[in-house]
Amino acid sequence: MKLLDGKLASQSIKEELRLLVAQRVAEGKKVPHLAAILIGNNGASATYVAAKVKACEETGFKSTLIKFEDTISEENLLKKIDELNRDVDIDGILVQLPLPRYIKEEKIITAIDPEKDVDGFHPINLGRLMQGQTSYVPATPYGIMLLLEHFNIETTGKHAVVIGRSNIVGRPLSILLSANTKPGNCTVTLCHSKTKELSTHCLHADIIVAALGKAEFLKAEMVKDGAIVIDVGITRVTDQSKKSGFRLLGDVHFETVSKKCEWITPVPGGVGPMTIAALLKNTFQACVKRN
Ligand code: NAP
Repeated sequence: MKLLDGKLASQSIKEELRLLVAQRVAEGKKVPHLAAILIGNNGASATYVAAKVKACEETGFKSTLIKFEDTISEENLLKKIDELNRDVDIDGILVQLPLPRYIKEEKIITAIDPEKDVDGFHPINLGRLMQGQTSYVPATPYGIMLLLEHFNIETTGKHAVVIGRSNIVGRPLSILLSANTKPGNCTVTLCHSKTKELSTHCLHADIIVAALGKAEFLKAEMVKDGAIVIDVGITRVTDQSKKSGFRLLGDVHFETVSKKCEWITPVPGGVGPMTIAALLKNTFQACVKRN
């Protein structure tokens, strides 16, 4: 078993970006600037946003963190997005999800200028992705593709099973894996909660991506020998032995599944850091395009 080490791969991508930003500075060009909006007091969301801001600092990007109470009105949030859309210094905008229930996610995502939509959730960017056009690819699926590329994983002709069909992970990933690209060219089976005989699909898979949000769901008996397993899931479980009071579990039962795999991602340290690296790549691209 070999580790698809996302920490390592993301460090190499961040170093590449850091050099590119330093070069822009030396040429008197603008540095990328990411604006992140965080609403409410969700601990996990705050941790993710903090990690994104820290990664911006490490690579020489500018970042602006905008925090709102979870009482902010939809109208005021839309006003802020409009302001950021028109701010020429801002290259990328992200609104950390999930949003408070009274705010319509779709309305907020659609309000972001597609050219600044570095999370890649805007329908225009998802549409471009569908058509194989250049687009901002949602950060988690993009990060997974970068991880496969970093470790030179041959995907052509392989059967990939993606568990989870969300618009931010499973569905866009199924499009990327099936595209005529490298990595890509997989035959993809997209599974969800209504899929029958999920274990049989998994047992036929060369590549399994678990993105369903159910801790340790994928067990060894669902995986064939030599498979490549990518674990997207993050579930916090109480653990009093940890300073934080919790530990993170993926969607894969790592201890047993890892014994059968050729490659597997750890949790943490797999897809998580790659998501951030992909977000930075999108933001850099947005800056270059706009300046
Ligand atoms: P989501 O929107 O809740 O979607 C979950 C998907 O899994 C749905 O399509 C659902 O099917 C499917 N599903 C649920 N239970 C299932 C089951 N028993 N069998 C088969 N399919 C099942 O979740 P998400 O936003 O895609 O996130 C998934 C996980 O990835 C979460 O743990 C999340 O925290 C994590 N995540 C990690 C990163 C990262 O950077 N590492 C980024 C994003 C998300 P239906 O459509 O039929 O309901």
